Amino acid sequence: MLFMSVNAGSSSLKWQIYDMPQEKQVAKGMIDRLGTKDAVFSATYNGQEHFKKTEAILTKEAAATLILTRLKNLKIVKHLEDIKGIGHRVVSGGEIFHESTLVDDQVLLKIENLAELAPLHNRVEAYFMNVFQKLLPEVPQVAVFDNSFFSHLSPANYLYPIDKKYYDNYGIRKYGAHGTSHRYVTQRAAELLQKPQAQTNLITLHLGSGASISAIKNGQAIDTSMGFTPLAGIMMGTRSGDVDPSIIPYMMEKEQIKDVKEIIRVLNKESGLLGVSGISNDKRDIDDAAAAGDQRAQLAQQMFANRIVKYVGSYWALLGVQPDALVFTAGIGENDALVRADVCHALRHLGVQLDDQANQVRGQERLISQPDSAVKVYIIPTNEELMIARDTYQLTQKH
Ligand code: ADP
Repeated sequence: MLFMSVNAGSSSLKWQIYDMPQEKQVAKGMIDRLGTKDAVFSATYNGQEHFKKTEAILTKEAAATLILTRLKNLKIVKHLEDIKGIGHRVVSGGEIFHESTLVDDQVLLKIENLAELAPLHNRVEAYFMNVFQKLLPEVPQVAVFDNSFFSHLSPANYLYPIDKKYYDNYGIRKYGAHGTSHRYVTQRAAELLQKPQAQTNLITLHLGSGASISAIKNGQAIDTSMGFTPLAGIMMGTRSGDVDPSIIPYMMEKEQIKDVKEIIRVLNKESGLLGVSGISNDKRDIDDAAAAGDQRAQLAQQMFANRIVKYVGSYWALLGVQPDALVFTAGIGENDALVRADVCHALRHLGVQLDDQANQVRGQERLISQPDSAVKVYIIPTNEELMIARDTYQLTQKH
């Protein structure tokens, strides 16, 4: 049974087709520079066949229509009716959606209304759901929310220590992000540990260009490092992560900046690895420059690892039990042996014993701690698209 997962952004759309319940990836592709005359349509299917074309794809309707047409023309599917469900990544479920849900008109409206919390995403995602619904009215659609995994946080962990009226009146609280990834690696870690998920305690480290850390107790997230927006938490590629908010008016005064949005832009786009190193937001470039002796790159490496260690330490304490495992995932977490080594060595006094040899692996699922380590350490490549396909399969079966 074929299921499609859709991850729509403002200028790109990624899709994958899975054969379920076997969880076999049948095809994947994306449209880049959507909305322009030189959009790029690419697809990989049948194992290793590739298709790539630069062409005008000006509207979201055109993008969705083209994907469906090509699915047939490239013989990825025989008939479009073979697609039994479409799952969509949705950035914000606010406080309304605690789990993935089948999409109907009411759900669609609620997702649109949450756009205030995810201005760049929710509206586009809702729009695509609408478009696919019109093109394939018989095919059920499912919304998979990026932050629903954090909807079980307790108020003590999701509220900010500010007057409660800001939460009551405006919903200002921690919402988190990357929930689908944290959820996926939590499920997978439980399998690897051969424990029921409901008895699994973890600290999951999603380290990509955006990065977040979650504390997982008895299989559920109890805290996460991103906040009201993805700007909070650890240091990232271009985001600062946590800073003292008082630096904002001070920076404005010193730099004679009138609009506070400009400072938020600087904290989102010009900070983190990029800002500290002055070189790049890409960890590979930082590692190369640091190895060549660049001191700012070395400082960026140290700060990046240091902030991770502080979060892991605080979540370790918050869990109240020894975690079963630390799980590294996403671009940096899966590929960067250096940061894994820095973090694990800093946690040696807590019993973390890294297997330095095993840690040299890249992008592969692997146990990288020594047999006598107090806590296991895993690399688990994330797979948000599969998680979306799983939810879509499960919800459409119940239907
Ligand atoms: P996103 O999906 O958030 O864009 P990814 O999870 O794909 O991010 O992570 C992208 C980041 O992963 C890159 O910016 C880069 O810093 C890092 N990365 C990718 N490959 C490597 C590698 N071999 N070594 C170190 N870092 C890497």
